[in-house]
Amino acid sequence: MKKIALSLLTVSLLAGFCAGLAGCDIGTSSRSEIKIGGKTMGTFYNITVIGDYPGGQDQLRHEAEEVLDSINKEISFFDRNSELSHFNQHRSTEPFKVSQDVADVVIASIRAGQELHGAVDVTVGPLVNLWGFGHVKPETLPPVPDDNAINAARKRVGLDKLHVIVGYNSAQLKKDNPQLEVDLSTVGEGFGADKLAELMDRRGIQNYMVSVAGAIRTKGLNSRGKDWVVAIEHPTTEQAVGQRLEIPVCTRGQAISTSGSYRNYKIDEKTGARLSHIIDPATGKPITHHTVSITVVGPTALWTDAIDTGLMVMGSDEALRYANERSMAIYTIVKEGNEFKSHYSKAMQQYLVCD
Ligand code: FAD
Repeated sequence: MKKIALSLLTVSLLAGFCAGLAGCDIGTSSRSEIKIGGKTMGTFYNITVIGDYPGGQDQLRHEAEEVLDSINKEISFFDRNSELSHFNQHRSTEPFKVSQDVADVVIASIRAGQELHGAVDVTVGPLVNLWGFGHVKPETLPPVPDDNAINAARKRVGLDKLHVIVGYNSAQLKKDNPQLEVDLSTVGEGFGADKLAELMDRRGIQNYMVSVAGAIRTKGLNSRGKDWVVAIEHPTTEQAVGQRLEIPVCTRGQAISTSGSYRNYKIDEKTGARLSHIIDPATGKPITHHTVSITVVGPTALWTDAIDTGLMVMGSDEALRYANERSMAIYTIVKEGNEFKSHYSKAMQQYLVCD
C-alpha cells in the first residue's frame, strides 16, 4: 500500500474520517460549518470550522496549506531539501543554523525522549531507513538487516548525541556524531495539528477541529453545540479506514493522537514475523510485542504524538503503569490470540463518557 494511505491507516484514530463526518457526530447539525481537507506530509489533513472563517473556505484552504507547506519545508525527513534534511546531510559536528520551529520541535522531542527513558528517540532515523520505513527505497535494502548493519546504525543513534543551542535571536542544532540524523516523523503530524490550531486561534475561531492524520486538536463545540467526539478505530489489517469503531472519545478541548503498528508493517518472509515501523531504540529492531495501538489525550498534539510512539515501544502493560503513575490519559489495544483487548488508564475515563 502506498505510504500516503499507509500513514493515514497506521493511526487508529479516525481523524480524517471523523472530521469528514462532522467529528463522528450522529444527528443533525444546527450550526453552519466549513470543511476542508487535503494531502500533506505523505498523509492527509482535515479542518472543520463552525460558523464563518474570515475570507471563507478558499482563504481557509490557502492559509492552512501555507502553514502545512512551511512545516514540510522545515521538518520533512522525506524531502531531501527540507531544513531538517540539510542538517541530516551536514556531516560535521559544527553547529548548524535552523529556524525556531525546527529547534522547538527538536527540543520538545528530546524532552519526550528523556521523559520516556529513550523509548521515543528522534535520532532513530538510520534504523528506520535500515528496516525500510524511511526515505531509503526499500527495494535497495535487504528484507531484514543483519546484526552488523543494525549495530553500525545504532552507533549513529542516541538523543545524548543531539543538542539544541538557542541564542538571543538564533537557534542551532549540533550532533556529536557527524553521521547522526533526525527523523521527526513521529511528532510532525502533532506539530502540524498544533500549528493549524494556532492559525484558527489567530483568526479568532472559537469552535474547530483540525487534524493531520491521527493527530487532532479541537476547541469549543461541534455543529450540534456538543463537545467534539472522535473515535478510536478498532484494529484491522484491512486497507480501509473506519471499518469498525472501537470507542468514541470526547476530547474536552484536549489534543489526541494514536500510534499503531497494525497497518504499517512488513512481513519477514523467512520467519513470517511482523516487522512494525516502530523501532525499539534499545534493540535497534521493530517492536515485537502484541500491543497494536496506543491513544494518548493531552495538552498539545506534538506532546501526545511523541508520547504515543514511546508508549508503543514500552507495550501496553508498562505504558499503563507509566500513565497511571502520572495521571496520563491513555487507551491501549492489545492482540490476544485472535481477539483484541482494550485497556485504559484512570485518567482516560473522563474522556470515554460523552454528554
Ligand atoms: P507514529 O507512530 O507517529 O511514528 C512512527 C514513525 O516514527 C515511524 O514510521 C518512524 O519514522 C519513526 N519512529 C519509529 N520508531 C521510533 C521511535 N522509537 N522513536 C521516534 N521515532 C520513531 N511519508 C511519506 O511516505 N512521504 C512523504 O513525503 C512524507 N512527508 C512527510 C513530511 C513531514 C513533515 C512528516 C512529519 C512526515 C512525512 N511523512 C512522509 C511520514 C508519514 O506521513 C508519517 O508521519 C509517518 O509514517 C509516521 O506517522 P504515524 O502516525 O504513522 O506513526
